[in-house]
Amino acid sequence: MIALYPGSFDPLTYGHLDIIERAARLFDRVVVAVLRNPAKVPLFTVEERLSQIQKAVRHLDNVEVEAFNGLTVTVARRLDARVLLRGLRAVSDFEAELQMAQTNRTLATEIETLFLSTSTEHSFLSSSLVKNIAAAGGPVSHMVPEHIEKELRTRFAGEPL
Ligand code: ADP
Repeated sequence: MIALYPGSFDPLTYGHLDIIERAARLFDRVVVAVLRNPAKVPLFTVEERLSQIQKAVRHLDNVEVEAFNGLTVTVARRLDARVLLRGLRAVSDFEAELQMAQTNRTLATEIETLFLSTSTEHSFLSSSLVKNIAAAGGPVSHMVPEHIEKELRTRFAGEPL
């Protein structure tokens, strides 16, 4: 079975990577789909995020990464993915995730959204938190893979604290 894991991944954190690694043990194929969202101004371009994630999942044979526009269920149908995978951290994630899952179900009844709960050590982690800490010159090496930490450092180098 194929699972699609959609998100912004701006940037990928160890929380995302943990979900990907656990999903790779459950499904035949996992496709990480980076959303091209014209409504959001991301820190990293889609191409940068694709390459960051590809590097981080190199050790996983059954994981692929691609970019997409538009509806998640349309991509899932194209890839023949029956599962949309999302991560749940805290109750605060629940409302929006439930709304999205139910909406996607009205758009494609054959596709199920499955949630993996975060591992305790990653429950506080979010891409926004990582960006805020990195922007203020703080350490993020325990939150993101090394190559992403480097890119964050380069991106924020020279910015006033
Ligand atoms: P989106 O903009 O679609 O929410 P994100 O990159 O923020 O994209 O998140 C993608 C998915 O990964 C979401 O389901 C989110 O709840 C989940 N996620 C993010 N951080 C973590 C974490 N630390 N542990 C588990 N799941 C997470």
